[in-house]
Amino acid sequence: MSIEVAEKEKFFDPLVTAKGEQRAWVNLKELKTLWFNTGTLCNLACVNCYIESTPKNDALVYLTHAEVVSYLDEIARENLTTGEIGITGGEPFMNPDIIPIMGECLDRGFRLLILTNAMRPMMKCEKDLLELKYKYGAALTIRVSVDHFKRKLHEEERGSRSWEPMMLGLKFLSDNGFNIDIAGRTRWGESEQELRKGFDVFFKEHGIRIDAHDKKQLMLFPEMDENASVPEITTACWGILGVKPDDMMCASSRMVVKRKGDDKPSVMACTLLAYDQQFNMGKTLKEASKSVHLNHPHCAKFCVLGGGACSVSEK
Ligand code: SF4
Ligand code: SF4
Repeated sequence: MSIEVAEKEKFFDPLVTAKGEQRAWVNLKELKTLWFNTGTLCNLACVNCYIESTPKNDALVYLTHAEVVSYLDEIARENLTTGEIGITGGEPFMNPDIIPIMGECLDRGFRLLILTNAMRPMMKCEKDLLELKYKYGAALTIRVSVDHFKRKLHEEERGSRSWEPMMLGLKFLSDNGFNIDIAGRTRWGESEQELRKGFDVFFKEHGIRIDAHDKKQLMLFPEMDENASVPEITTACWGILGVKPDDMMCASSRMVVKRKGDDKPSVMACTLLAYDQQFNMGKTLKEASKSVHLNHPHCAKFCVLGGGACSVSEK
């Protein structure tokens, strides 16, 4: 492509790119995972929180048990093949309905993945968590954020005095046989191999039952640079890049959120775009089953290009 386009002209028309090409889209193939964002309030205010959570940010308010039930009922009514429920925040354990919500999902036979910083809000639910684990065993997975195996770097992201409470929570989960995995960050520039080696030593030293070399047990996430220049994705990109639309998260999942001031929750295209109203697909799962036009830099950077080089990048 020789036509230069200014950054501000990109990601404007959902159907057409700034260069006038047809924008790529993704059809919902099967709703495998339904995510619930249980609210953006968090006990922390991490430097690079992708959803900008803080102890004061309630842009997405707490979902109630009844609201979660209405979506689980829709899954049953529409005979959807959804097998997994994901719960994210904010810090989900700050939501007063979190235990009934978790119990409801597990009771209906879903696998449940919940993301947490494993600090005090989670530990306040210690007894309830043990009961859920006793009743539903391996159907429950808890993903703990440990940004780095070095305390100093973890606290650089999460704030001072965030390490010890996390370690307490992580040890509790590991010692009691919960299914756990870890979300780390790559922001300090080490290679993947170096990071996995460092985490391996850290897990062994603290007796944490995690295989640092298993990509599912230790997931390493890159940072989202909101200002980075990225190309727009056209329908031609799939073939050029050898990437399939069906492999995008929005081909197999959706996320329910409740915006402050709204009467009802909405269904967003994916977990990465919690606020952008272009990606608000409607109030019900049925309405949200339409295709998603990839009109956001995250679509290019995190999903289609996956952080790698692109042969159709702007030159
Ligand atoms: S703990 Fe998670 S949700 Fe809370 S501020 Fe940090 S990254 Fe954001
Ligand atoms: S960021 Fe874009 S491409 Fe990625 S899952 Fe979300 S909507 Fe789909």
